[in-house]
Amino acid sequence: MQNRLWSPAMAGGEPTPMMAQYLEIKAAHPDSLLFYRMGDFYELFFDDAKRASASLDIALTKRGKHLGEDIPMCGVPVHSADQYLARLIRDGHRVAVCEQIEDPAEAKKRGSKSVMQRDVVRLVTAGTLTEESLLDARRNNYLLAIARAGGTNGLAWLDMSTGELSASAVSEAALSAELARLQPGEILLPDSLVEDGPGAFADWQDRLTPLPSARFDSVSAEKRLKQVFEVGALDGFGAFTRAEIAAAGAVVDYVDLTQKGKLPPILPPQRIEPGSAMGLDQSTRRNLELTETLSGSRQGSLLSVIDRTVTGAGGRRLVADLSGPLTDPDAIGERLDMVQFFHDADALRGDFRDAIRRAPDIERALSRLGLGRGGPRDLTAIRDALVAASAARQVLGSSGPAGILEAASRMEGFGELLQTLQTALNEDVPLLTRDGGFIAEGFDPALDEHRTLRDEGRKHIAALQKTYADRTGIATLKVRHNNMLGYFVEVQQRHADKLGDDFIHRQTMAQAMRFTTTELGELENRMRSAGDRAQALEERHFEALSAAILNGSRDLAACAGALARLDVAAALAELARERNYVRPHVDDSLDFEIEGGRHPVVEALAVGDSGGFQPNDCDLGADEGRLWLLTGPNMAGKSTFLRQNALIAILAQAGSFVPATNARIGTVDRLFSRVGAADDLARGRSTFMVEMVETAAILNQAGERSLVILDEIGRGTATYDGLAIAWATVEALHEANRARGLFATHYHELTALAEKLDQVTCRTMRVMEWQGTVKFLHQVIPGAADRSYGVQVARLAGLPDAVVRRAEAVLKKLEESGQGRKAVSIADDLPLFQAMAAQPSPAAPAGPSAVVSALSEINPDDLTPREALEALYRLKEQADD
Ligand code: ADP
Repeated sequence: MQNRLWSPAMAGGEPTPMMAQYLEIKAAHPDSLLFYRMGDFYELFFDDAKRASASLDIALTKRGKHLGEDIPMCGVPVHSADQYLARLIRDGHRVAVCEQIEDPAEAKKRGSKSVMQRDVVRLVTAGTLTEESLLDARRNNYLLAIARAGGTNGLAWLDMSTGELSASAVSEAALSAELARLQPGEILLPDSLVEDGPGAFADWQDRLTPLPSARFDSVSAEKRLKQVFEVGALDGFGAFTRAEIAAAGAVVDYVDLTQKGKLPPILPPQRIEPGSAMGLDQSTRRNLELTETLSGSRQGSLLSVIDRTVTGAGGRRLVADLSGPLTDPDAIGERLDMVQFFHDADALRGDFRDAIRRAPDIERALSRLGLGRGGPRDLTAIRDALVAASAARQVLGSSGPAGILEAASRMEGFGELLQTLQTALNEDVPLLTRDGGFIAEGFDPALDEHRTLRDEGRKHIAALQKTYADRTGIATLKVRHNNMLGYFVEVQQRHADKLGDDFIHRQTMAQAMRFTTTELGELENRMRSAGDRAQALEERHFEALSAAILNGSRDLAACAGALARLDVAAALAELARERNYVRPHVDDSLDFEIEGGRHPVVEALAVGDSGGFQPNDCDLGADEGRLWLLTGPNMAGKSTFLRQNALIAILAQAGSFVPATNARIGTVDRLFSRVGAADDLARGRSTFMVEMVETAAILNQAGERSLVILDEIGRGTATYDGLAIAWATVEALHEANRARGLFATHYHELTALAEKLDQVTCRTMRVMEWQGTVKFLHQVIPGAADRSYGVQVARLAGLPDAVVRRAEAVLKKLEESGQGRKAVSIADDLPLFQAMAAQPSPAAPAGPSAVVSALSEINPDDLTPREALEALYRLKEQADD
């Protein structure tokens, strides 16, 4: 239907030449909304207009007819198009921006009815944004591609606004965690992968851009990348797999496609070793509220309470660090050294942060300049950032850990460029090149001359007026200006004949007569052309300065990277000072020993609370048992304790100090958190189903280097089912996965497992009970809770007195019937847990049993119903023997 409408061949009737042009361009961009430039507006027509007006909440009007029907239309002003683009992209649209690519005068030369040439200059998609107004300054926006080659998956991701390109191999199982880490704005994938079913992409449906598989060809990708990075082989950048190359090629190709041939500066690809970042799947990230809370706000997330960065690039770096904590103790140590450096030097830290505080975003300015989308403010951004970098470099001095010295060296060597920018540019400059006035006086004498001519034209005019008045003796003679005539001499009618022959008559008014002179005409021409020349010269200088900047774009990007890394280190040091965090000791042991640990967010929000935050220890080393069963009433602080330990591991491996008095952590390769139950109704799964899917993921993937946080597994089903599942899960974690873990549960029955499994120990939350009410001390102590205090908590919550009293009575009866003791006998009665598939069941007989042999001799087709029944009885007898 849409095709018929859009096809120019089918347009029928006589579409106006402009409509014919529109239809042709639209036909080439069927998947995008077409922003069709008409004067000061981008107009949208037909279905595009309907969709855009609904999404933008703007008026839908009509313009002319097509095939006898009104053409729906809506439009947005060019000068404020960014904000509309942002909304459309957020709503999942793509936009093709179609500009007028010639002067109206040019078009007129071809005939008065001819249509101006137009063409699409850019496709705006979620993954290819560069405008400050469309981006979050503190988040990377990745365009990610996934490709498959030689039986492996490759990922490549580019932040087009900063030019960072990375690639890594990823297994099927790790794919969804990797997507969760990167939070790409747009995902490119071969359409064959989409057909495989949603799988890992279930959460990303609205960000998928399927492309023909041919675009993921690794051979042409390699060629393309070599060309872009001007190298003969890619090996110098890392040992990329074919799938990674294919993915990186697809990314570059897509940028080229959407930018219509204008590639932004792209840094050479970095290969990220699989496993170099801690595995955190989507639900773990959500549960731990790393960068946003469960309800989707930044406020209240871990990021919001620890972020002290002072630049946008530092903010982005911190998000990336938190999203992908490292696993290599040496690399973590290097980051911690940098934090320590700033931590131990309060004055230096303050000076450094002041120096970079107002540093503009180098990376994003670079990318806009590279795309030819920059303006004078991108030049001053680079200048001001280099000024800041040089001041910051001074502050750092010449001693410090390797990371600091290396970062410092990347901020040097821009003297010449900075000098040029400083002499060339004014302090404040306009947004657009064509507005002019950004090149400083004294930089270019020719430019100054043109400007003087232009600006001082008024003085020349005034001088000319005086000359004419003197010469003609008409004291009231005036030189005036209007748009129609330009400059002209005006005298009263009665004086007109006093003027000489060189005054050429132009207009007669009621009182006055207007004339021009050759002299005046020439002066006016000179003024106008001086203005034009000044503008042309400024534009040329803009191009030259851009080129000088882009020439050093790799060094500038490295400087920007160094600034961001230092901003993060200084910010984490600031945080550590402010909140008393300590440097964790991170190594490759399997220890997990936290003394006086606190929950970074709960602690921060509890400031001013009378009680303050109660610190707690956690030791999952072999001596204390690596699997803790934590029991205790609701509201006692179990979830907080679980999460705080997970967050401490993440902070430590991201290279931050941690909220504790002492911390020793053997690196965690994967962290799983299953905290709280939430229905995932959007995906049509019940609480219990979600819980089981997540538990399955943990049991299938966790290893001895993993950390597992489980809160109340099995609560979504009937008591015994739930208990049985929780029971089996603890056993599996202990015997098969052998992971370090914290397991909070309401099933007190589980504590019996501590007797059977040597690495399971019991902890409980300390509670004070007094006259029927409870007080939670939020303290984790050895032992198991003897009861749930559920009724008391219910009283605290304001349940009516009568209900509380009745519940107490019922509880007493239940307890008298002895339900509680059963679990211990269950623990004694059950055979020991067998690690899954680890060894054959010891009870398995050597050959087929007698029953099986007897069964195999029976041919059911030969039996009458009666014989069959008799055979069954015989088998049953044999089995019972
Ligand atoms: P549970 O999981 O046992 O139901 P939560 O962890 O949700 O309990 O904690 C209940 C409340 O107690 C939270 O609102 C939190 O603010 C507070 N809390 C938890 N742990 C501490 C602590 N160590 N010190 C101070 N307050 C705490």
